[in-house]
Amino acid sequence: MTEGVRVRFCPSPTGNPHVGMVRTALFNWAFARHHDGVFVFRVEDTDSARDSEDSYLALLDSLRWLGLDWDEGPEVGGPYEPYRQSERLETYAKVARKLVDAGYAYPCYCTPEELEERREAARREGRTPGYDGHCRDLTAEQRAAYEAEGRLPATRFRMPDRDFAWDDLVRGEVTFAREHVPDYVIVRANGEPLYTLVNPVDDALMRITHVLRGEDLLSSTPRQLAMYDALAAIGVSDGTTPRFGHLPYVMGEGNRKLSKRDPESALLMYREEGYLPEALLNYLALLGWSMGEDREFFSLAEMAEAFEITRVSQNPARFDLKKCTAINGDWIRSLGVDDLARRIEPFLRAAGLVGAELTPAQRDLLSAAVPLVQERMETLAQAAGMLGFLFVDDAAFAIDAGEDLSGDDARAVLASALTALESVATWDAPSIESALRAALVDGLGLKPKVAFGAVRVAVTGRRVSPPLFESMELLGRDRTLARVAAA
Ligand code: GLU
Ligand code: ZN
Repeated sequence: MTEGVRVRFCPSPTGNPHVGMVRTALFNWAFARHHDGVFVFRVEDTDSARDSEDSYLALLDSLRWLGLDWDEGPEVGGPYEPYRQSERLETYAKVARKLVDAGYAYPCYCTPEELEERREAARREGRTPGYDGHCRDLTAEQRAAYEAEGRLPATRFRMPDRDFAWDDLVRGEVTFAREHVPDYVIVRANGEPLYTLVNPVDDALMRITHVLRGEDLLSSTPRQLAMYDALAAIGVSDGTTPRFGHLPYVMGEGNRKLSKRDPESALLMYREEGYLPEALLNYLALLGWSMGEDREFFSLAEMAEAFEITRVSQNPARFDLKKCTAINGDWIRSLGVDDLARRIEPFLRAAGLVGAELTPAQRDLLSAAVPLVQERMETLAQAAGMLGFLFVDDAAFAIDAGEDLSGDDARAVLASALTALESVATWDAPSIESALRAALVDGLGLKPKVAFGAVRVAVTGRRVSPPLFESMELLGRDRTLARVAAA
């Protein structure tokens, strides 16, 4: 299987990129890299009513963000340019003409209403309700008569009269009976070529050797196998047919298929919340594939190294956002401090805590603060909440709404905390801690939780924060004292 592997990721640019799409891209990418093959990125944008330039740009941007590099495709080019199907319409028109000329396809004059009527009749009579072959063998006169009525024909592919079977890379032997694969439209009456044509034509022209795609496309495969035979017969392809592998469904909540519309599908959500691309890919790799030995934490390179298609499961995979988030936490903990600081920075910026460039002081502060939060973050966006008290302008600092320091206890605690802190000689965490313990726990006889809780709210604005004494050390003496006094 290692000879000249060529796989493709060929999404349609409709709507926003979603995780199902990324899983397909990832498995193809890993398969290509594992076999030293070629990963082709092709854009299936022939549906002008649904495709958009924004979606196209979002797709490119997403693959770049994820680090799934492609060898041929938009921006990088390649021997089979162009890789946007909207720029290949002449090719499809030519192939469709050849298919008709050679008898592999034919003009179909049926209107949608007529088709629906006959489907309905078939259902009533208990027959399989696919296309009934009405226009398969029209005579020249019958055609002329339809044309005289002003009907514009669609182009329909003539399925051979036989069953179709293939050895699926994931599912093993798959069979479709003839009656379940009726003749199908490849070009609309308005001349627009459909997925049914453009996808196999490009797979043939681009010498694709393996097609790995979602199980929802299983029923396209018998049609495409017949199409490949026709393309070979008319000299469009060199006669090789790709091997097919259908990736299992991804299930969401309530045991239904994860839908593009589910919020946890949106790739953008993961970027905005601060999932690391490495972590998201690591998690998506587990949806239908396993590395073995129960290994669930690995890099993209390790996945590529280990990616055997035989380890892809036929069983539906379950999407579990909690697990994805936990893996993200593992990845965050695995990063070096500088790397993590660099990744947190945009989130501080998005929260309005820092400007376009960090000042040297902010940079130092961030490096010093990262170790305090690294153990407890699961997403990068959480860092902005946890570290906000350090970066916020002192004038803008406010205690979280809902935290109450107005009681007499809090007043007494903060008053003695202030006195104790003012006399700390060396402003570091151990000195701060022993001063506060002496004053509040030993002096006032408070439980540490009560004593330090009030100080924590005064200094960080929240009941939950990074370790208190380290936080106070980083915040510095003046800012800390000012906050306790203000509280
Ligand atoms: N453009 C198709 C889709 O996004 C590609 C399907 C395939 O891989 O054949 O569903
Ligand atoms: Zn017809």
